Amino acid sequence: MTFDYDLFVIGGGSGGVRAARVAAGDWGAKVGLAEESRMGGTCVIRGCVPKKLMVYASGFPAAFEEARAYGWEMWDTRFDWAAFRGRLETELDRLENAYRNTLINAGVTLHDTRATLVDPHRVRLATGQEVTAKHILVATGGRPFVPDIPGAELAVTSNEMFHLPALPDRALIVGGGYVASEFACILNGLGVKVTQVYRGAQILRGFDDEARGHVATGMQAAGIEIRCGTDVMRLERTSGGIRAVTTDGADREYDLVLSATGRRPNTEGLGLAELGVRLGRMGEVIVDRFSQTAVPSIHAVGDVTGRINLTPVAIREGHAFADTVFGGRPTAFDHELVASAVFTQPELGSVGLTEEAAREQEPIEVYATAFRPMRSAFAGHGDRVLMKLVVSRATRKVLGCHIVAPEAGELIQMAAIAIRMGATKEDFDRTCAVHPTMAEELVTMRKPVRTA
Ligand code: FAD
Repeated sequence: MTFDYDLFVIGGGSGGVRAARVAAGDWGAKVGLAEESRMGGTCVIRGCVPKKLMVYASGFPAAFEEARAYGWEMWDTRFDWAAFRGRLETELDRLENAYRNTLINAGVTLHDTRATLVDPHRVRLATGQEVTAKHILVATGGRPFVPDIPGAELAVTSNEMFHLPALPDRALIVGGGYVASEFACILNGLGVKVTQVYRGAQILRGFDDEARGHVATGMQAAGIEIRCGTDVMRLERTSGGIRAVTTDGADREYDLVLSATGRRPNTEGLGLAELGVRLGRMGEVIVDRFSQTAVPSIHAVGDVTGRINLTPVAIREGHAFADTVFGGRPTAFDHELVASAVFTQPELGSVGLTEEAAREQEPIEVYATAFRPMRSAFAGHGDRVLMKLVVSRATRKVLGCHIVAPEAGELIQMAAIAIRMGATKEDFDRTCAVHPTMAEELVTMRKPVRTA
C-alpha cells in the first residue's frame, strides 16, 4: 500500500517539531505536519519562553533595590507593560517563523489546520482534505484545566497572561504548581499585590519538602500572601473587579484571577479511543518506552502522554521516536534523573529523588546548608539560599540535589551531569571549590544534617 506520507505529525509543538525535523531532515522521510494554532506550541507561544521573559522583566525592581545598596543612585523607575508586551509579541513572531523555516528547510509539508484521526493510517484535516501516512505521531500537548465552579469564566488561564490589556493592581492566583507559583512571583515583581491560594498544605507538591518550604518563605518575604489549605468556591463580577469567595470564609475583591490548577492532555475529539488507542484516567495517551500506542502505526510524544510534562522531555521523546522508526536505531528516552527548574523568586532547581522519596527507597544521609549569600548579605537583604544533597548510605551515590538560589536552574543543569554519571558524595567532596560562589557549598558540606 502506498501512503501520501511516511509520517504525519499532529501538533507543531516541542515534541512534534523535533520528530518531524529529524524524520525528514536526518532520515529522509516524507513528512507532513498539522498545527491548528501557532507553530512552536506551548513552550514558544504560551509557556516557557514568554514566561521566562516575564520572569526577567519582573526581576528588575529587586535588582534596582540592590543596586542602591551597592552605591548606585537610582532615578524613579516605571514599568511600561504595553511596551514590554509589544516587544514580547515581536519576539514570539520571530521564534514562530524560525520554527516554521526549520521545518520547511527540512522538507516537511506544513498544514496550518486542525487534524483528527480517521483510521490507523488516515488523518482528516479541518479543511476537509484527508491524507494517509504509514506512521502517525500524536503530539498535541495539553491545555489548562479550569475547575467547574460558579464564575469560573471570570478567571484567566496562563494562555491569557501574556496578552493582558493592562497589569492589575490586585491579583488572585489559584493553584500551587510551578505555573501558579511562577506567575505569583512575576506579578509580585511587577508591582501587583498578589494572593496565592492553594488547597494543599504547601505549594510545589512533588518537589523536596525542605526546598518547597524555602521557596514559599522567600515568596512570602517578597510580599506574596500565600494561603494554603484554601480553595476558591465561587467568583462573581462586581463593579470594582472580581469577588472571590474562598473555603476559609474570606471574601475579597481582585482585578485579575488566574486559574493555574493543572493541565489536561489534548486528546478530546481526536478519534483515538475509537481506533483502539488506550487512554489513561486524565485522557493521556498510553505508550510504551518507544512512544508507540496500542495501535502499531500510531505513536505519541510530549505532554499528551503525561509522562514528564517538560519541553526538553517532549523534544527527546520526539527525537527518540524519529530515530527508532525512521533511523533504524531503536532509542527509548530515559525518564530517570530529569532535572528541572521552577522560575520563582527565589528560584528552585531540582534533580533526582526528594528526601521524602529517597527515605522510602533506602537508608540515606542528607547534607544541607541554608545561608545568606554574599551578594544579598552586603545589600542587607534577608534572602537565604539552600543547597541540599540526598545521598545513599549504601552506594554513596548522590540520589538527589535541590537548590534554592538565584540562577538555581543554571546550577542544577551542571549538577545533573555529575549525578547522571553516578557521582558519589566523595566525588563531590574531591571536587575543589570555586570561590567565592554560592555553589561551592555543594562540594564543602562535610557532615550530614540528618540520616534516615
Ligand atoms: P505543545 O508544545 O503543547 O504542542 C502541541 C501543539 O499541538 C500545540 O501547538 C497545539 O496547538 C497543537 N494541536 C493540538 N491539537 C491539535 C490538532 N488536533 N490538530 C493540529 N494541532 C493540534 N516546560 C519546561 O521545560 N520549562 C518551563 O519553564 C516551562 N514553563 C511552562 C510555562 C507554562 C505557562 C506552561 C503552560 C508550560 C510550561 N512548560 C515548561 C511545559 C512545556 O511548555 C511543555 O511541556 C511542552 O510545550 C510540551 O510540548 P508538546 O510538543 O508535548 O506540546
